[in-house]
Amino acid sequence: MNIAEEKIVFTAFNPDIKAHIVLNDEICISKCKERYCTFVCPASCFVYEEESSKVVFSFEGCLECGTCRISCEEGALDWNHPEGGYGVVFRLG
Ligand code: SF4
Ligand code: SF4
Repeated sequence: MNIAEEKIVFTAFNPDIKAHIVLNDEICISKCKERYCTFVCPASCFVYEEESSKVVFSFEGCLECGTCRISCEEGALDWNHPEGGYGVVFRLG
């Protein structure tokens, strides 16, 4: 387990029903070969599935760091913060 994984284990989430980040599949499939999002997300929210040739995104464990937004050169992410009271609950110590 690396340092990031050790920290995430002690992080709590209160996920909304509605995703705060939405992935545009059409852009991913037609324009993106690098799939940087699958490498940079510290919470491994993006996973490339060989069978469907699609990137699957799970917002529930998102740390709201914004790295995916910066790394996606194709503008395929509609990125927003979760509604108030939802999302990641960081713990100190
Ligand atoms: S980097 Fe952007 S365009 Fe590429 S797979 Fe990820 S979200 Fe889609
Ligand atoms: S904001 Fe950060 S934690 Fe959330 S999906 Fe993007 S890279 Fe992953």
